[in-house]
Amino acid sequence: MTSYPYLLFDADNTLFCFDEANVHAFRAVCDAFGLPFSQELFDRYEVINNATWERFDRGELTKDETVLERFRAFFAAEGIRGLDPAECNRVHLEDLGRATYLMPHAAEVIAKLREAHHIYLITNAVESVQRGRLGRSALAPYVEEAFISETAGAAKPSVEYFDYVFAHIDGITKENCLVIGDSLTSDIQGANNYGLPCCWYNPKRLLRPAALRVDYEIRDLRELYDIVK
Ligand SMILES: [Mg+2]
Repeated sequence: MTSYPYLLFDADNTLFCFDEANVHAFRAVCDAFGLPFSQELFDRYEVINNATWERFDRGELTKDETVLERFRAFFAAEGIRGLDPAECNRVHLEDLGRATYLMPHAAEVIAKLREAHHIYLITNAVESVQRGRLGRSALAPYVEEAFISETAGAAKPSVEYFDYVFAHIDGITKENCLVIGDSLTSDIQGANNYGLPCCWYNPKRLLRPAALRVDYEIRDLRELYDIVK
C-alpha cells in the first residue's frame, strides 16, 4: 500500500515542456503576421512577456489585460506597427493549446504510476489552452481530472485553490497526497501553505531555498517510483 495514493502534478515544466511550447507559439505568431522569427526576437519578446506577467502577479493588470499588453508593449518596443494584439494573442493561445511537448520520461512515469495511484493535474493556466493540450497529449488516458485555476477561481499557491481541489477529490487527505512541481513560488509554496507533502522537481539544479519545506527533491521524474511506492 502506497503512502501517497493521490498524486497532484503541476503541468507546465513538470509534465509538459512549456518552454518549448512557448517558443513554438511565438513562432506561430510571427508566421501568421509576417514577422521574421529569430531567437533574438523571441528573447526580446520574453523579457517583455515576463515583465508583463510580473505586473499581473502584482495585481496591476487582469489576466485579459496581460495577454494583450505583452504584445502591445513588445510591438511598441520593436517599432512594429499595424498588428492587433488581440489577434496575435488568439494565434498564440491556439498554438499553445495544440502543443503537447512533454518533459523527459513524463509519459512513461505517468502511465506506470497510474497502475497504483490517482493522478491529478493542478495548474495555473488558461482553461482553453490547458484542456486542449491535455486532451491531445499522451497523458490524457491516465489523468483523472485537471484542476485549472481559471475554473477554480483561485490559483496556486493560495489556500482557496487547494480547498477547491480537496472539495473535488473523494478520499484525499493532507497526509495521503503528494504535490509534485517545478515551481517554488506556486507548487512548493502552495503545499507549504496547505500543509501537504511536496516533491520539488528540480531538473535545472537550482539552489534549494531555506525558507520552504521541501520533503523530496528530484532531478528526474523516474525518481518518483521510489518515493511513492
Ligand atoms: Mg510548473
